Amino acid sequence: MEGLLASKRLVQLAVSMILPGSTLGVLGGGQLGRMFAQAAQSLGYRVHIFEPAADCPASAVANRTFTAEYQQVEELSLFAKSCAAVTYEFENVPVEPLWKIESLTRLLPHSGVLEICQNRLREKTWLKKSGFPHVPFAEVEAHEDLAAAARRVGLPCVVKTADFGYDGKGQKKVTDDASLAAAVTAFQGVRAVIERFIDFKCELSVIVARNEAGESRVFPIAENIHTKHILDFSIVPARVSAAVAREAEALAVAIAERIGLVGLLAVELFLTDRGELLVNELAPRPHNSGHWSLDGGRTSQFEQHVRAICGLPLGDPSVREPSVMVNILGDAWINPATGQETAPDWGAVLSYPRAKLHLYGKKEPRVGRKMGHFTVTADSVEGALETARVLKEKLRRASS
Ligand code: AMP
Repeated sequence: MEGLLASKRLVQLAVSMILPGSTLGVLGGGQLGRMFAQAAQSLGYRVHIFEPAADCPASAVANRTFTAEYQQVEELSLFAKSCAAVTYEFENVPVEPLWKIESLTRLLPHSGVLEICQNRLREKTWLKKSGFPHVPFAEVEAHEDLAAAARRVGLPCVVKTADFGYDGKGQKKVTDDASLAAAVTAFQGVRAVIERFIDFKCELSVIVARNEAGESRVFPIAENIHTKHILDFSIVPARVSAAVAREAEALAVAIAERIGLVGLLAVELFLTDRGELLVNELAPRPHNSGHWSLDGGRTSQFEQHVRAICGLPLGDPSVREPSVMVNILGDAWINPATGQETAPDWGAVLSYPRAKLHLYGKKEPRVGRKMGHFTVTADSVEGALETARVLKEKLRRASS
C-alpha cells in the first residue's frame, strides 16, 4: 500500500518536474549562488547566473554568467528564456524585474514571497496578520514619529531600516534619550521599523523546503551564535528541548504553507527566557545557518532547494553527524595590531580529519565580509563545538 502511495506521489510530481539536463537560473552571484550551482550541477543541471558585479563567486562555477543590472530588460529576458526555472540567492533583488522573469519562465519562490520578505515592515505586518508569533514592533510612518514610536514600543528597542537590511546593517539599538536622539538623526529620510529589544536565551533558525505538490521537509533546528550581528557559529542539532524543536518545526511548515512557498525558506527565531519562540526574520532562499548540511546532513540545503524548485521528491534533511559551522570573515586575514593582511593558516582546518573547509573565491578580504566557512562534525554537539572553537582560534592566530 505504501509503495503504491509513493509511486502515485511520483506520478503527481512528474507532471511538473524539471529534469536533470535542464538549465536553472540564479539571480545573484554570491556564495549562495555558487553553492547552489555546485549542487545543481552534481545533479546534472546546467546553471546560469545573473549578477550586476563582474567576477562574482558564482561565475567561477556557472555554465554561463549574464553580467548586467537587474533593470536591463533585454539581458534579463535573454537570461530568463535560457532557463527552465529561475530562483534568487538574496532578498534585495528589485521586484519589477522579477515580474518580467515570471512572464517568461518559472520563478521560484514566487515573486509575492520575495515581496513580503524583502521589506521588514511588510514581513512583520504579514506575520502579525497571519497570526504567527513575532517581535513586537511599530511602524515609523513619518520621520518625526520615530521618537514617539520608540516610546510606544518601549526602551530598549532596535530601529531598523524597512528595506535592504541584513547582518545587522541599517539597525541601531536605542537604550536612552541620547541613543534615541542619535537614531533620529541617523534614520532621517529612511523608512524604518522599531522593534522591542528581545533579551533572548538563544537564536535559532529552521529551514523548510516545500515543492509544488505541497510536500514539506524541515531541516533540524540550528542554534546560532552571532558576533557583531553576523553569524559566527551554527550548532546542529540545537541544544533545545524536543518540545521547542517540534514547535519551531511546526511553525516553519505553517509559515511555508501560508506564504505559498515553493523552494526553500529560512525562519530566524528568538527563544526567550520564558520559552517563547518569536520570528525575527524570513529568508526565502538557502541560509548561512544551513551550510552545515553540506557536510553533516544527509541532503544539503542547496540540493534540497534544487529538488524543491524542480518539483522532484524532497531529500532526507536529517543530521548524519552533529555539526558546527563557523563563518570565516575577512577579519581572519587582518592583523588587528598592524592592520596588515596575511592569509590564514588553512592547514589548521585542513589537517583536522573531521573538518571541511569551504572558500568562496572572493579576492578581497574585508572586515565583516563572508569569505568562507568550515564545518566540524563529531560524535556529540559539545565535541564539535569545542573543536570548532579551537580551529577558529588557530586560523586567527596564524594571521596575527
Ligand atoms: P537582523 O539583521 O534583523 O537579522 O539582525 C541581526 C542580529 O541582530 C540578530 O540575529 C540578533 O542577534 C540581533 N537583533 C536583531 N533584532 C533584535 C531584537 N529586536 N532584539 C535583540 N536582538 C536583535
